[in-house]
Amino acid sequence: MRIWDCHSHLRGDETGRFVLDQMDAAGVERVNLFSKYPHTGTREDVREAVDHIAEVQKADPVRIYGLIFANPRAEGMVEEIERGIVDLGLRGVKMIPDHWSPCEEVPAPIYEKMQELGKPIQFHSGILYGFGDSSRFCRPVLYEALINYPGLRFSLAHIGWPWVDECIAVFGRCRAAAGYKTEDCQMWIDTCRGTPDAWREEALRKAVPFCGVERLMFGVDGSPASMKEQAPVHVRKDLDLLRDVLGLSEAQIEMYFFGACEGFWEE
Ligand SMILES: [Zn+2]
Repeated sequence: MRIWDCHSHLRGDETGRFVLDQMDAAGVERVNLFSKYPHTGTREDVREAVDHIAEVQKADPVRIYGLIFANPRAEGMVEEIERGIVDLGLRGVKMIPDHWSPCEEVPAPIYEKMQELGKPIQFHSGILYGFGDSSRFCRPVLYEALINYPGLRFSLAHIGWPWVDECIAVFGRCRAAAGYKTEDCQMWIDTCRGTPDAWREEALRKAVPFCGVERLMFGVDGSPASMKEQAPVHVRKDLDLLRDVLGLSEAQIEMYFFGACEGFWEE
């Protein structure tokens, strides 16, 4: 079975060779890999993070999909995104609301740029165990505002846990905005953990029939260094649930572990 991990974070010191070796050891064929977060917000910091992910992706752009972890308050962020995507061939942007709201003006220039470039954004959604007390900015419903950016593809991580129903409902909202056609919907759900085991069965039981497996991407939310420990465990747990508890077909299972992510990248 092919595995595409849709959610992995660089620490900032990895080489492309190291990432590929970890993927091989973990049984992961492809990865959506996020650059280090430019915490300080200086242009230098942003540039360094963009250059690092571009260097890593270069090792094998078929297997490594590099995304820029954007800080919308950082100096020159929009220009660096453009440089990273247009000049360096990076694939998209990752964002976590850090005391800014997804439906207000702070991230809007990035949304506009990504809409123009035709590249997607992977967002955090749900309770946030970092960035201070920012969870109130991470409610899934705040991303309903993305319907104002038609054609801008995006994903919400962690099935929005603990706001799983809200996350699934936002998917329904975006699908409605696209004329109730799943294939035209701009939203995907990144199912990487966040949902603890006690919640996971219920979350997938709801998300699979409502959204369709073609919109549910498997992810680990670790780093290349932790991939070989974490990925096989997460794959096994989801596989047991999808196959033995929810009774999905092999084709649906392959869609969940690989095909959904492949669809996310189709322009
Ligand atoms: Zn993450």
